[in-house]
Amino acid sequence: MTGTAGRLPHDPEALAALRIPTEDDPWRVLLSGCMAGWPCGVDGTSYGMEGAAGWLATCPRIRRVPFCPEDVGLGTPRTMPDLHGGDGGDVLDGRARVLDEHGVDLTEGMIRGARAMVEHALAQRVELAVLTDMSAACGSQVISDGCRFDSPRRFQRGVGVATAALLRAGVCVVSQRDRATLERLRERAEPGYVAEVDALDWHRQPWYLQTFG
Ligand code: SF4
Repeated sequence: MTGTAGRLPHDPEALAALRIPTEDDPWRVLLSGCMAGWPCGVDGTSYGMEGAAGWLATCPRIRRVPFCPEDVGLGTPRTMPDLHGGDGGDVLDGRARVLDEHGVDLTEGMIRGARAMVEHALAQRVELAVLTDMSAACGSQVISDGCRFDSPRRFQRGVGVATAALLRAGVCVVSQRDRATLERLRERAEPGYVAEVDALDWHRQPWYLQTFG
């Protein structure tokens, strides 16, 4: 399983190391394409994820760099990729696979999309990434353990394939559900903003604690 380095909710040093952005020199933030409203989900919609971007969508001290690794690697619409036998880091190391709901192996396309995302992130000199959790590509806290259409659905702690590749390339990541970390980022990006003291990161929220103990 992928470690915590570069995963901002678990890596306070990486969070503290981010510079203060300005309007002239905004943070360059890689954003899951669906969170930017792109119709790049498996069903050709954005899943309504644009609402999850919140303040990130309009902050003038952020330059948004949207990308969808599954669209690049597999196309849209597509069948549902999920991780089998490990997380995205295990996929990159050849220890786990990505299969769809029919058992078709999508590993090669997922790795291709992940590498393209890293290439784009480095070309755009992104400083951090805000990614949609629970995706087999973009997940950074929780991903499915096997096919998500199985009943009951199983989950694992870990990262998706694109997230693993980004972390290995030195790009910090945070999910849309990591509310405490996003509040700290907002404090840096919006002068005068005061972070909500009750905000919790995803791994401190009740669902996560009930699921993983
Ligand atoms: S791969 Fe990432 S960007 Fe693309 S639809 Fe899934 S979560 Fe959104």
